[in-house]
Amino acid sequence: MTERTLAIIKPDAVGRHLVGAIIQRYEEAGLIPLGMKLMRLTKAQAEGFYYVHKQRPFFDSLCSFMSSGPIVVLALAGENAIQRHRDLMGATDPAKAAEGTLRKAFGTHIEHNAVHGSDSPESAQYELGYFFSALEWPQR
Ligand code: ADP
Ligand code: MG
Repeated sequence: MTERTLAIIKPDAVGRHLVGAIIQRYEEAGLIPLGMKLMRLTKAQAEGFYYVHKQRPFFDSLCSFMSSGPIVVLALAGENAIQRHRDLMGATDPAKAAEGTLRKAFGTHIEHNAVHGSDSPESAQYELGYFFSALEWPQR
């Protein structure tokens, strides 16, 4: 089934000039950008995005990090895109991520792990709607 999922290239990766390398990996995997923007979140906007984690001990640090510099948000489309993107990203902690994954290649720390990806159809719907309006989708 063709799905859409939300990807974020996080501030650590944007700051290390890895945007092009990461988008190339999405395209090579058949995860095709339907929408894309470079932006910087306020801390409140990061908190809204990550509201499901608000009770977690790392929430404040995570939201400070995610608002510390520019990010690139992408809507990616492809067959079984949500799970295939999670597989491409690898484990949350780059030290535990498998060889060949984005977090293994580009992450440096469990928080500074280069990329975000929606983890379910429900989170994809919330996250895509957080960043993109229906009017922004190209016809493809
Ligand atoms: P994932 O991004 O793999 O779905 P989670 O949803 O559990 O992982 O966590 C969201 C983000 O919070 C992670 O990508 C990472 O940046 C950060 N994070 C997760 N666990 C920790 C932790 N134990 N310490 C610091 N930051 C964390
Ligand atoms: Mg998650």
